[in-house]
Amino acid sequence: MQERMHREQKSDCSPTRIETRVRMKDLSLLLLTCAAVSGSLPIHPEKDNQEEDAKLVQDYLSKFYVVEEDPNQRGWKVNAESTAEKLQKMQQFFGLKVTGKPDRETLEIMKKPRCGVPDVGLYGVTLPGWKKNKLTYRIVNYTPDMSKEDVDKAIQKAFEVWRTVTPLTFTHIHEGIADIMIAFGTRAHGHCPRYFDGPLGVLAHAFPPGNGFGGDVHFDEDEDWTTGSAGFNLFLVAAHEVGHALGLSHSNDQRALMFPNYAYVSPSEFPLSPDDISGIQSIYGNQFWVISGYRVLLGYPKNINTLGFPKGVKKIDAAVCNKNTGKTDFFIGDKYWRFDENRQSMEKGYPRHTADGFPGISQKVDAVFQQEGFFYFFHGSKQWEFDPMAKKVIREMKSNSWFNC
Ligand SMILES: [Zn+2]
Ligand SMILES: [Zn+2]
Repeated sequence: MQERMHREQKSDCSPTRIETRVRMKDLSLLLLTCAAVSGSLPIHPEKDNQEEDAKLVQDYLSKFYVVEEDPNQRGWKVNAESTAEKLQKMQQFFGLKVTGKPDRETLEIMKKPRCGVPDVGLYGVTLPGWKKNKLTYRIVNYTPDMSKEDVDKAIQKAFEVWRTVTPLTFTHIHEGIADIMIAFGTRAHGHCPRYFDGPLGVLAHAFPPGNGFGGDVHFDEDEDWTTGSAGFNLFLVAAHEVGHALGLSHSNDQRALMFPNYAYVSPSEFPLSPDDISGIQSIYGNQFWVISGYRVLLGYPKNINTLGFPKGVKKIDAAVCNKNTGKTDFFIGDKYWRFDENRQSMEKGYPRHTADGFPGISQKVDAVFQQEGFFYFFHGSKQWEFDPMAKKVIREMKSNSWFNC
């Protein structure tokens, strides 16, 4: 069977090491040759910087701000936008001042390590997700930067993040073709249509759900992969890439895991933001499921039409099952319905205002979870810890800190 990606050997004879082995005699010869060949030594360092910056801008925009090839349609979709227009798009995406010029802030952002998936193009739209809930993944090769066990753990944890908020399950297989093939490579790797760029810059890339490369995740072996805060944390980058493998595009919300730039967050924090959760649920939202203590409640996903909502209710904002009572609350706008999981029917007297049943929760609920008996409500950047026994808000937190326990 053909492996989609071959192991790239990290050579001990990297060019830098070879150079240090050059003897003095050869070195002087080398310098002479360079001086003779080069008619344009960097006499004006400013001009040199400008040239470097211009190259950076062109590289960056051509990598992340052009429309991509669409295999399902007719070949390439040509992007006729000027550099200034693409720059404006990029500046808008990152919340910078939209000048259309490569100013200092723009250049700083362009130098940051990030994901190789473009910010616009095919990825600007919501992609169809997998047509099945049981997915497989395979780790084709391993980075020498970490122990095999740590790589397995990091990847497993990355899938776990998405499993908690979807009806999807992920099974690690060790041979054959998995839905999500995971591999490490450098520069031009295997048959992958994308290249890696050496240390820093692009860290990894992934492909949206589908056959062939669809769903596959590749990591740049030229990066230093770690379990901690030094180098690049494999779990965090993998969790981001798995988001792509499930059909998510980049988010311009800086707190989102799907923001394209790398940012380290403590592994004790759950890395998903409400933006990530609503994004993934909009892909896998034709069915509805309820999360209870990180797991999908038995009997879910269900079709929304089977739950007994009045006609016209098409979308549920959030839901949580209270494990102590066996009742599931469905939040829509500023109201909620209560469903009895044992009797499998809607309770009478609903909908009620969320603020009446959950004092202190007055806005639309973006997401809600139960953890250790408490409910965690999300709205925008806000998060509340709610005690369902005492019926009150215990504390208000920033929205990505709920796993910090
Ligand atoms: Zn990405
Ligand atoms: Zn690749």
